[in-house]
Amino acid sequence: MSCDVFALANAGVRGLQPYQPGKPIEELQRELGLSDVVKLASNENPLGPSPLALVAAERALKQLHLYPDASGFELKKKLAAKLGVTELQFTLGNGSNDVLDLIARAFLGPDCSAVFSQHAFIVYPIAVQAVGARAIVTPAKNWGHDLDAMAAAIEVDTRVVFIANPNNPTGNYLNQNELTAFLAKVPDHVMVVLDEAYIEFAGADDFPDGLDFLKTYPNMIVTRTFSKAYGLAGLRIGYGISTPETADLLNRVRAPFNVSVPALAAAVAVLDDVDYLQRSQQVNRDGMQQICRGLEALGLAYIPSLGNFVAFELSSDAMPIYQALLREGVIVRPIGVYQMPRHLRVSIGLEHENQRFLAALKKVLSV
Ligand SMILES: *Cc1c(COP(=O)(O)O)cnc(C)c1O
Repeated sequence: MSCDVFALANAGVRGLQPYQPGKPIEELQRELGLSDVVKLASNENPLGPSPLALVAAERALKQLHLYPDASGFELKKKLAAKLGVTELQFTLGNGSNDVLDLIARAFLGPDCSAVFSQHAFIVYPIAVQAVGARAIVTPAKNWGHDLDAMAAAIEVDTRVVFIANPNNPTGNYLNQNELTAFLAKVPDHVMVVLDEAYIEFAGADDFPDGLDFLKTYPNMIVTRTFSKAYGLAGLRIGYGISTPETADLLNRVRAPFNVSVPALAAAVAVLDDVDYLQRSQQVNRDGMQQICRGLEALGLAYIPSLGNFVAFELSSDAMPIYQALLREGVIVRPIGVYQMPRHLRVSIGLEHENQRFLAALKKVLSV
């Protein structure tokens, strides 16, 4: 029997392009026979995991035969106390990526549209397309979200607006005043998703805390993650904060055991590791300065970033430079899929890793 499975898939899925992750270290080692590889491609925490998280996750492994606590009771209690909200306002996800998908499933479908910006995080178009909704992509302004254009692009069938603050891969941000003015313009048939995956790194005085808006705008969902500043990307855990009513809707489409036993345990533990978070922030501040100075010395323009990465611009197509860096054992991220073919994104690493990257870049640019 032959069967055209492609024709059987729903229309949204048929039009999807799979997400392209950063190149794994082992893959480059296999391909080029290199042993000493530096990966600065996926905005991972260069410190390695928090020691407290590691102990908690190891202890949790003794419970591997049991389903996790589907309610995430302990984690929600701790987050609620820390953030000044209630337990009922949380939706836990297998990474915050999962929460973005839950939002699409709960609020979007074939007869709806979602608005997001050009160069915005690529999970938004994927999540929207997967549920058969229409994407309305607004042109960027200076590589960032043009909030006036986004407000103007909202249509009667629009149900979700996605905003990344700061945005990945560009690193730029929307300040308190810009976001305040935008939210006042959004009609109440639209959910505003504020993706704050990098908020712990965003050290600008006028950087807004999305939770402050939640009191005024019940049509808001803030998403955050343990993957970046908290260094748990491999365990997959993130969360949404919204009104209890919105959280109730999201939890209806959530797989009951979407967050694993070790992930829950490690997340609870890492919230107590104040030292780890501070070191993450310090290493990122120092490394950002080191890399930006290095790029300037090479005469390369970059987009000032509040994340743990920075996008820099080459004089022509970035792929040959990306490939040449690979041959030097340095993995960065090409961002042609973000309509930025002349840019590369480099994640901030430890001092010696940043140095390796800058030296390799200098070498490949001079040949
Ligand atoms: C990394 C990232 C996320 C979330 O990643 P998870 O590991 O799924 O929590 C969300 N949004 C942006 C903009 C990111 O860069």
